[in-house]
Amino acid sequence: MPTENQVRGEWGEKQVAKLVDCQVCRARKLSQLAGSFPSLDLVCRNCGGYLAQVKTPKMDAAKAPDWRPRTLMGAGWNPLQVQMSIGSMRDLYVVGAIPHRSTYRLAWIDRVPGPALLANADVFEYRLAVIGGGTRRHAMFNIAYHRIPPACVINVFTA
Ligand SMILES: [Zn+2]
Repeated sequence: MPTENQVRGEWGEKQVAKLVDCQVCRARKLSQLAGSFPSLDLVCRNCGGYLAQVKTPKMDAAKAPDWRPRTLMGAGWNPLQVQMSIGSMRDLYVVGAIPHRSTYRLAWIDRVPGPALLANADVFEYRLAVIGGGTRRHAMFNIAYHRIPPACVINVFTA
């Protein structure tokens, strides 16, 4: 059984794939990468040169539509550096998910361009975490989303 976080994450990736164009070739061909790619969630099936990570924070329906989380949990930093160093575009999408019946309702989608994340590397906060039910602790990063300069956060969809 997938956890609630996994279900919501999967849902968020589908929203981005449905509503967002590739930032390289402009085709609407982003599709989900099957499992096992650490913090890589979407790839453009048209040009192959655009990769994206998606984070889907849960949002209270009573909150204002411009609400944003302070922190994004479990983002990757090393994969970002590697992808950027080989010249792939690699953006971060943040999807606001309001619980609705047995699924979610889309509140908004933001994009943070990969270069803007690299330029603001101090927003990555190191932590050790247990992943996937094991006992080993893995190096993970959270993103202090509220500390990314507003000019680097592009709203691409608002419900
Ligand atoms: Zn493309």
